[in-house]
Amino acid sequence: MDNRLIARYLLEMARGMEYLDESPFRVQAYRKAAQSILETPVPVSEMVEQGRLSGIPGVGKGIASTIEAWVRDRDFSAVEELNARLPRGLDELLKIPGLGFKRIRALHTQLSVETLDDLQEAIRQGKLSGMRAFPRKFVDSLPRSLERVMSYRGKLLISAGLSRAEAMILQLASRGVKARATGQCRRFAEVIERIDILVECSGEDREKILDSLGEPHAVIRNDTVTVPPSAGGPVMELHLVPRERLSLRLLLTTGSDAHILALRKLASEMGAEIGEDEITLRGRPVSVSAEEDIYRLLGLQYLPPEVREGRDSELARARTNAVPALLEIGDIRGTIHNHTDRSDGVSSLPAMVRGAMERGYRWIGISDHSKSAYYAGGLDEEAVALQHREISALGGKLPEITIFRGIESDILADGSLDYPPEILRRFDFVIASIHSYMEMSRQAMTKRIIKALRNPFTTILAHPTGRLLLAREPYEVDMDAVLEEALKNRVAVELNANPMRLDLDWRLMDSFVTQGGIIAIGPDAHSVDGLDDMTYGVMIARKGFVTPQACLNTRDARDVKEWFCKT
Ligand SMILES: [Zn+2]
Ligand SMILES: [Zn+2]
Repeated sequence: MDNRLIARYLLEMARGMEYLDESPFRVQAYRKAAQSILETPVPVSEMVEQGRLSGIPGVGKGIASTIEAWVRDRDFSAVEELNARLPRGLDELLKIPGLGFKRIRALHTQLSVETLDDLQEAIRQGKLSGMRAFPRKFVDSLPRSLERVMSYRGKLLISAGLSRAEAMILQLASRGVKARATGQCRRFAEVIERIDILVECSGEDREKILDSLGEPHAVIRNDTVTVPPSAGGPVMELHLVPRERLSLRLLLTTGSDAHILALRKLASEMGAEIGEDEITLRGRPVSVSAEEDIYRLLGLQYLPPEVREGRDSELARARTNAVPALLEIGDIRGTIHNHTDRSDGVSSLPAMVRGAMERGYRWIGISDHSKSAYYAGGLDEEAVALQHREISALGGKLPEITIFRGIESDILADGSLDYPPEILRRFDFVIASIHSYMEMSRQAMTKRIIKALRNPFTTILAHPTGRLLLAREPYEVDMDAVLEEALKNRVAVELNANPMRLDLDWRLMDSFVTQGGIIAIGPDAHSVDGLDDMTYGVMIARKGFVTPQACLNTRDARDVKEWFCKT
């Protein structure tokens, strides 16, 4: 059991207790202990063996004995008992705007609502009317919110989708079966609605494969194994393909329907046909040993999997040999938009900087929350000055990395930034973000963001639509107008790399960067591990045809500094 897992269980318990309205001090104690364990450099399981658990700050007697039960006896009854007292569908219920612990508790205790379906039924039967915590207007808005949250079912964020595919591929590999991800996983869709895996298989291996899945409910039909959805995830399909047809089937299962249709149309115009099992040209089979061969046959430049979405722009580029070299993870030299424990991060400044160095970065931009973000421990003027002193001192000791002093400044309701110019001036860069008043009209929101873009101190516009994938819809905003204004004011637009956000949407990137726009990939890291979200950012940037030149993170520290100054 590693420290991260222990911390996760502690946080899960804290949440359960909070839901059950237990003492806030107790809840806080569990949260503090979790944070403390995350910061403990040695494995906590070793400390348990040595009886040294009480040496960890914030871990009192009660919490210590809970951890000991987990580590020593594999006894998780404390977590299980607590979880049994929560509604089964708590996570889904929490996604409904306006539904917090207090209201869910009322639904659970008074109406036995455990899940979204229960809630839907209760609303249908009019059981919510007259309940004290449920004003009429709120109840009227519930069916729409319910429908939206229900539409998230069976879908996963890219991070979870890829790890589920990966787990299956490893499982197969352990039995000597070769497999790889295809479909939405290979295209790096931001939300995974189905997991497709291509499995190399000669006819006689079918039973062996079915056997090695470890999935008792898997069904095999023709050449497809279907694994039914588990834990609210999407369906998984394994396509069993003989080796000689792998490239063709990889192509056919990777691209979106629109992309494959466009390829087939193009093929038929030149007397070729792309069938399920073979490609023919004027009636004769063509040998295909790689996907590249197929694009070449069609007179197209090769298109990387990520961009095969069926946009007109893809094929237009491929036809004219204008597919650029897309951004790669190896191009990234620095990371921007990172929090520390000075605001709502869990890792300290030195830990974050060390984490960036370990990942081979030459620079890191620190941007804690600004003072209006009181819920996230935003920094007041004094805290800003203190952090700047810390950065200077640390930077002096670490010549191999440049630490940029930044801030994630709230865009206030009227579009102004969170500090006066004399404070804003002290930062190397300013990230402007919307975190509040998201219910504005489209016109008002657009005006508000445009005002922030025109602020001479704004360097980057972060998570421009505020969406939380599978949790919160974007706010109303005219993104065309926002991007145009970002171009005019030389403000970079963030691609927030947190798998829940992936905002700016990749569909809007191509034209933005073609016009000279700069994309800044921000992991929005709140811990050292969070720095690794950069990978998702690069995946999504590639979908948007972002080149290394169009991405701020590929520049070296001196260039970045210069670029900050020009804006
Ligand atoms: Zn933010
Ligand atoms: Zn942030």
